[in-house]
Amino acid sequence: MRITKTVGQYMFGAGTIGALGDVLQEPKKNGATGVVYFVDHFFNGSDLLDRLPVGADDHVIFVDTTDEPTTDGVDAYVDQVKQQMDGNVAAVVGVGGGATLDTSKAVSNLLNNPGKAADYQGWDLLPNPGVFKVGIPTLSGTGAEGSRTSVMMNQEKNLKLGMNSDYTVFDRLVLDPDLTASVPRDQYFYTGMDTYIHCIESLAGSYKHAMADAYSHQALSLCRDVFLSDDMQSQENREKLMIASYMGGSAIGNSFVGVVHPFSAGLSMVFHTHHCVGNCIVMNAMDDFYATEVKEFRQMMERQDIPLPENVCGNLTNAQWQDLYDSTVVHEKPLINALGDDFKSILTPDRVREIFARM
Ligand code: NAD
Ligand code: ZN
Repeated sequence: MRITKTVGQYMFGAGTIGALGDVLQEPKKNGATGVVYFVDHFFNGSDLLDRLPVGADDHVIFVDTTDEPTTDGVDAYVDQVKQQMDGNVAAVVGVGGGATLDTSKAVSNLLNNPGKAADYQGWDLLPNPGVFKVGIPTLSGTGAEGSRTSVMMNQEKNLKLGMNSDYTVFDRLVLDPDLTASVPRDQYFYTGMDTYIHCIESLAGSYKHAMADAYSHQALSLCRDVFLSDDMQSQENREKLMIASYMGGSAIGNSFVGVVHPFSAGLSMVFHTHHCVGNCIVMNAMDDFYATEVKEFRQMMERQDIPLPENVCGNLTNAQWQDLYDSTVVHEKPLINALGDDFKSILTPDRVREIFARM
């Protein structure tokens, strides 16, 4: 038997952000009246703010997404909300890409659970549901809008791990493709490719099953439409990618990733490379594991004329090579999914080094 938690309801279509006021009436029925908005700092000063129904009891917090979320950063936001809103929080709304959506999901959970963000990194550790949460993606690809995790760097433990729980799933989504029109081309491609990579990893793994596969196949088909077309950011393609992202998130919520994500996490721990560009850098070196898909990935990159950072692992010390190895093979679940229980006999330190050296 498989039990899957999905988003409660979602609104979809250009201009849907106008429905947010109605969406927020529901949680306000329980007594609290305030709403805290976590908005990507890109929108500070933009006219998107005028389209959010911010009232007198509400607070807007801009999330600096220069770096990916950390457990300490999330704890600081929780303290700020507690101080500013004094318990009067009916809903948490996240408006942004994966980093902002993850931040809002984690804060919502921590407002109703004791302790710190780091206490809940892992699987199914939260005792209580969070505050009603609404996700409004402005960048498509990570699937954070559909998934049951919120990924945070834990600097003390040198670990990047999610708060995986049914309680991490958004209660409502507002999927408005108008909001992704301003995304820079490279970012749009790198983040969109996260969906492609989630799906090919899920399909190639041993945990695959009909439900996850169905999401993956459909999301991949949409990704091909978008990234093999002439204008990946047309209105129609932005709509398609928004749906693909949600489906990719649902696919991965039902299965596991594979070899790409652990290597990308290695880059992230050692060089602070962002998740999506990191995945693309790794994908380009994955011929041994996903030969056909790597060819297609390169075709898409060429079609869209997107550059990749090169020689990212040049001139490393032995200690850095060791860190890269350790922070890659620590991701046992996806590596077992992709390569089996004995994955360390395939991913020996020399082999891992040789793969990183190609990037
Ligand atoms: P992001 O949220 O880090 O944002 C990337 C950049 O895009 C930022 O500079 C941001 O300001 C900008 N941006 C966002 N929307 C924009 C818009 N409409 N116009 C112009 N600029 C815009 O990017 P991401 O790739 O969506 O998310 C990466 C994060 O997602 C990582 O922290 C990763 O760990 C996380 N992630 C989470 C899940 C999950 O299931 N929870 C899955 C994969 C990745
Ligand atoms: Zn990913």
